[in-house]
Formats: sequence, C-alpha cells, structure tokens
Amino acid sequence: MENKQKIINDMQEVVYQMKLDDIEENPDSEFEFFTCSSCAKDMPLAGSIQYSKYRLCNDCVLMYELALKLNKVKNIDEFIEKTEDSRLQTMCDFIKQESLKENN
Ligand SMILES: [Zn+2]
Repeated sequence: MENKQKIINDMQEVVYQMKLDDIEENPDSEFEFFTCSSCAKDMPLAGSIQYSKYRLCNDCVLMYELALKLNKVKNIDEFIEKTEDSRLQTMCDFIKQESLKENN
C-alpha cells in the first residue's frame, strides 16, 4: 500500500512535469484543445501524449501510465477498452481522491 502510494505520487510528478515542459516549449499548447481518446473531453494539448492511434490528455496519461505500472493493463488498446470498465473507474476515483488529499 505504502509502495503503491509512492508509485502514484512519483508518477503524478513526472506526468505533471511533462505538461510544464510542453507549455515551456510551446506556450500555445495550453490553449489548443483536442478530444481525448480515453475520457472524451476536450483537453489542452499540453501534457497530452500520442500512443499509437490514440491521443490521451494529461489526466488520462497519468491513469494509463499508472495502470501500466500497476499491471492493470498491458497496452494502450487494453486501456482504451478498460476505460469503460467500472473497476478502472474506481481506480481513477481512488487516484483522484489521493491527489485531492495530496493537495490539502
Ligand atoms: Zn482524457
């Protein structure tokens, strides 16, 4: 559990840093939007990543990288399938809750 929490915290930092780097490299990327392949929301290009034919927003990149790390999925295709799965939704909620705690 302790270890899992550390993985989540470390990954949050890495993924957030990617977004900052994108904004530094191309300030417009914060205000250019695309439709995320995973959450289907219109999200800023900054911090997004193209995985094969899918582009994920910064939030979903975090979910995907964590899902990979925690062996919940093997690849992006599986992740896209599983984003409809309630278990992963629960995991996403869990991660969000953890990040809320983190910000307090
Ligand atoms: Zn997304």
